[in-house]
Amino acid sequence: MRTSAPTPYTTAPALLLPPILLSSKLVVTGILSAGLALLTVVLALTGVDYWSSRTSMLQDSRVEAAIVADNVSAAVMFRDTGTANEMLAALRSSPMVLAAGVYDTDGVLFAHYVRERDPDFPTTLRAAGMEDALERPGWNLLEIIRPIEGTAAPLGTLYIRKSMREVHTRLAVRFFSALLIAVCVMAMATAMVLRSRAAVREAEHRLHALAHTDAVTGTGNRHAFNERLAAELELARSGRHRVALVYIDLDNFKTLNDTFGHAAGDGLLRQVAQRLQSVVRSTDTISRLGGDEFALTLRLDMDDVALDKYAQRIIGVFQAAYTEVGQQVNVTGSAGIATFPDDASDINALVSNADTAMYRAKEMGKNRCVRFDPSMNQAVVRRQTIEHALRAELEQQGGGLALHYQPLFAARGGAVVGAEALLRWTHAELGTVSPLEAVSVAEDCGLIIPLGYWVLRTACRDASRWNAHGPLRVAVNISARQLGDPQFLERVMDILREEGLPAHLLEVELTETVLMENMEAGAHTLHRLSQLGIHLAIDDFGTGYSSLAYLRQLPMRRLKIDRSFVRDLPEQEHSRTIVTAIVALAHGLGLEVTAEGVETPQQADYLVQQGCDVLQGYVFARPMPVAQFLALQAGVTAPTA
Ligand code: C2E
Ligand code: MG
Ligand code: MG
Repeated sequence: MRTSAPTPYTTAPALLLPPILLSSKLVVTGILSAGLALLTVVLALTGVDYWSSRTSMLQDSRVEAAIVADNVSAAVMFRDTGTANEMLAALRSSPMVLAAGVYDTDGVLFAHYVRERDPDFPTTLRAAGMEDALERPGWNLLEIIRPIEGTAAPLGTLYIRKSMREVHTRLAVRFFSALLIAVCVMAMATAMVLRSRAAVREAEHRLHALAHTDAVTGTGNRHAFNERLAAELELARSGRHRVALVYIDLDNFKTLNDTFGHAAGDGLLRQVAQRLQSVVRSTDTISRLGGDEFALTLRLDMDDVALDKYAQRIIGVFQAAYTEVGQQVNVTGSAGIATFPDDASDINALVSNADTAMYRAKEMGKNRCVRFDPSMNQAVVRRQTIEHALRAELEQQGGGLALHYQPLFAARGGAVVGAEALLRWTHAELGTVSPLEAVSVAEDCGLIIPLGYWVLRTACRDASRWNAHGPLRVAVNISARQLGDPQFLERVMDILREEGLPAHLLEVELTETVLMENMEAGAHTLHRLSQLGIHLAIDDFGTGYSSLAYLRQLPMRRLKIDRSFVRDLPEQEHSRTIVTAIVALAHGLGLEVTAEGVETPQQADYLVQQGCDVLQGYVFARPMPVAQFLALQAGVTAPTA
């Protein structure tokens, strides 16, 4: 039985966001900014370089002009044009000098040198346009003049015209080299960023996959489920399709896990996942929500009839036996389906409703698929009301609670050999609540522990009252959670002692499902109970598909054939075969056999014939209040069969 509520939908943690943490835009912007910064640095360096080259060229030219002016002064003084021309021609070795001229004190050209023919060469100092400046540094040309000093007075003026091309060429070479280096650095940096980005992206993908994959089955896990369902609902909201959520819980997984071990259990889960995978469509997803719970998210582009067929196909994966555990075992599952937007308007309601439907499938006998119906929520409300009422009832020490006793008759001789204590509850507002419903709610909410002790104490008290008239055993039903209570043994012993009932007059009834599910955990408790003298009975035998070979490991004394096999006796051959086989098997294992639910004399006759030891049923007596049972005991009525 399911005890945990579905985990409400929560948004995924940051770790689980889509894996692209560094957006491409951010990276491109980063690379462009770095490139721009490098370019700025290169330009700035080139500017500084230009400035310093120009300054040093100016200084060199000043020195050069001063030397030439000095050297040419003698030739000017003696008006020796030839020597002056020769001296100026020596400037040829300086590749930047385009032209040079010497002007006399009247500013008329006296001697000159031109590298190439130059029609613009100024023939007068005035034409050079440098009366009021010693230097004229331009972008392409640098012009410089220097007075040619004589010993007493100036002799003339030297004019030199230089090309800036060499500076520009050097500058261009440096600029493009720096640019090339910058581009190479950028390319390397970009390659490194892209590589590390690819590595980060891959790591993110791996992390994302790990965080979204179930390690056992390889299907999506709860995170993946939450994200996928949210995405599907988003699509559905935009009107593209409906969504169906199928919640599946395996029915007997815990027993198989306990019996065959966890490795085998994991193998079983894998096989279940594979089979589910083989029946769903590519647009549907399977997730394992934990334990033995699976969820399927289906895109619903089909009508309800088709959905029912699809659901049958899904639940059909449990039909064939599973072989993972080294032998063939049957695994069944209960499924609940809720659809969006028909059954729920948001993700939490959808999950909760699918869970409610699955829970109902369990209640209806498991191994089936149930569609959600709004009335189911009313059932949930009713269960809550019952829980509150039961809690109040137990706090008031069982005001509306009572036990009825159904007599048990010896098949041969018809003597009353005991009675089964059955819970009865009449509540002021709820009316009569069936014991099955009350016990089921109590098991779910934990109230079964105080309720169970109340039943045990009341039954022992009543039994010790009728024990005064003759020793009759009382049978008490015990549920799984009671057996799991660590104080169970101690409390049973206390109750027997306090109520004054000998242990051998108490019989504890446990359904075979309870026994199978608590095979290991409960075995010790059962052996201790048996050692104390308490009788143990297997209730409702035949409904849990368990094997007697397993149950024989427990110290059981009695087996009660479920009334579903008695109902069709003696007409139905199937029931006859089963009853005959159970009686033979049980006797072979040294167990007494009780038949439950005997409603007709024919059934009773057949059961007596088959060798049943004890009979219980409406044909003999219905469950009755203790006073009536005491009266019956006093008059001892024999069975009418
Ligand atoms: P059970 O232990 O198998 O009890 C026998 C059930 O069969 C009782 O139903 C009884 O009234 C019913 N019954 C007996 N003879 C006939 C018959 O000839 N025909 C039909 N149709 N039914 C017959 P009841 O009292 O409704 O209890 C149902 C179940 O509730 C019990 O099945 C038992 O599993 C559970 N239960 C009852 N009282 C307690 C309790 O105090 N503790 C626990 N844990 N479970 C209890
Ligand atoms: Mg019973
Ligand atoms: Mg029974």
